[in-house]
Amino acid sequence: MTDLSVVLPAHNEAANIAPMCAALERILAPLGSYEVVFVDDGSSDGTLAAIRAAAASAQVRYVAFTRNFGHQAALRAGLRHARGRAVIVMDADFEHPPELIPDLVTAWRAGAKVVTTRRDDDEANVSGMKRLSSRLYYRLLDQIGDVRIEPGSADFMLLDRAAVDVVNGFEDQDIFLRGLVRWLGFPRATLPYSRGQRQHGDSKYSLRRMIELAVTGIAAHSVRPLRFAIWLALGFAALGLAFVVYSVVSFLFVQHTVAGWTSIMAAIAILGAAQLLVLGIIGEYVGRILRETRRRPSYIVAETEEDARGARQAP
Ligand code: UDP
Ligand code: MG
Repeated sequence: MTDLSVVLPAHNEAANIAPMCAALERILAPLGSYEVVFVDDGSSDGTLAAIRAAAASAQVRYVAFTRNFGHQAALRAGLRHARGRAVIVMDADFEHPPELIPDLVTAWRAGAKVVTTRRDDDEANVSGMKRLSSRLYYRLLDQIGDVRIEPGSADFMLLDRAAVDVVNGFEDQDIFLRGLVRWLGFPRATLPYSRGQRQHGDSKYSLRRMIELAVTGIAAHSVRPLRFAIWLALGFAALGLAFVVYSVVSFLFVQHTVAGWTSIMAAIAILGAAQLLVLGIIGEYVGRILRETRRRPSYIVAETEEDARGARQAP
């Protein structure tokens, strides 16, 4: 059995593939037997060609999707494809420094089943916006969810085979890997690192995708937003009661009660907004329930290294 697998989701990372392979080979070779598993997530820039070329080396394997299914789906496919006793998950763009791998492996050999990492957020190369939003988000998730994720956490981690098998057995469509591995409860170690520079290409996480991931994280780890509707309703019931008391008192004791047009409009507007908000929250969860009940696969595989190797051997 292979000792170490490194799983790298790649979406339009053509120029990063070869340098990443070289860096990984240099770092992994002294650590034992290894394999590198790329997941091509529907790239359109020749990433798959670069991966196919890299797979000429017996240590490099891959899964290619039929289209873009997203980072979390790619992580899933990579975890299923990996065969190592320990699986390291990282980005293909050098922002997760491969130099940290020996430390991850040391922590694993010392007994941790899950080794997570924490980005050193004092770094100048993490934008202030990203730092702040990540910190606020993880604090919120800690308050309302069933996992505690340290600020600066990303999908850069090592998982023991035991943890990988458990994750592979999950049937959830939408996973939030960094939350899931903490929820498992296996003995865990955390290592700090400072983020490397993206070597080629741009970030694929637009604001929309970051929000999508954030909502997935909350929906995967909390139903508290649904309960928020009850608190909101209670709050407005109390306000309404106060308003009734006020209008009765002014009807009885104040002579010139004018029909309260303003207050009625205000009440309608506030209640309408509150109802829409709550409907939106419910809709978000209902939509996810629908998606889960369909039990569609979260990705479709177009080819793997086996196909490429088979084709090469055929006459
Ligand atoms: N990625 C992916 N599918 C996507 C978007 C991103 O597989 O739809 C990969 C990407 O190639 C990279 C990793 O996920 O290896 C992290 O993405 P990115 O670097 O764009 O995100 P950021 O580091 O800016 O948060
Ligand atoms: Mg990146």
